[in-house]
Amino acid sequence: MHIRVSDVKKWVGREETQHLSEEWPEVAQERSMYPMRGAAEMDVTVRNVGRALIVELDGVGHVEAVCSRCLETFDLPVPFSVAEEFREEPGASDPHEDFFRFQGDKVLLDEIVADAFGASIPYAPICGEECRGLCPICGTNLNTGTCHCEMSMDNRWAQLSRLKFPEDSSSS
Ligand SMILES: [Zn+2]
Ligand SMILES: [Zn+2]
Repeated sequence: MHIRVSDVKKWVGREETQHLSEEWPEVAQERSMYPMRGAAEMDVTVRNVGRALIVELDGVGHVEAVCSRCLETFDLPVPFSVAEEFREEPGASDPHEDFFRFQGDKVLLDEIVADAFGASIPYAPICGEECRGLCPICGTNLNTGTCHCEMSMDNRWAQLSRLKFPEDSSSS
């Protein structure tokens, strides 16, 4: 995955935006804990600031996520964005530097796409705000079924609330 920068390189201050719709780079799948779906869709803006090119990504990818409440798989859109500096210098990019290197007319995007996307995947995704999750007692998926555990849970809470604790008696 790359963009051509032959024109934008020529004039300081020049800016170009292009839309990419391509296969995910392999390294992106390595950073994602969930299988990816479909193509990588993103707008890429390149701005020539003289000493470097500033590359901004703004995109969305889809993964087959597992809901942290009900454990069902679902399609999760993952928006991601990042801005990185690229300098035309020989040699490979060095992770200890705060810029990337490129040479010639192409800027490779695989690394920054993978990093930005991987960092944007939520740690505990949910299939929807209204997801009711699994019954903690019998494991029934409460989005699709019902169980009778709730009633007995209520009884237990009622019994707990009647208990007296030492703090209660001393403070009164
Ligand atoms: Zn769910
Ligand atoms: Zn239950």
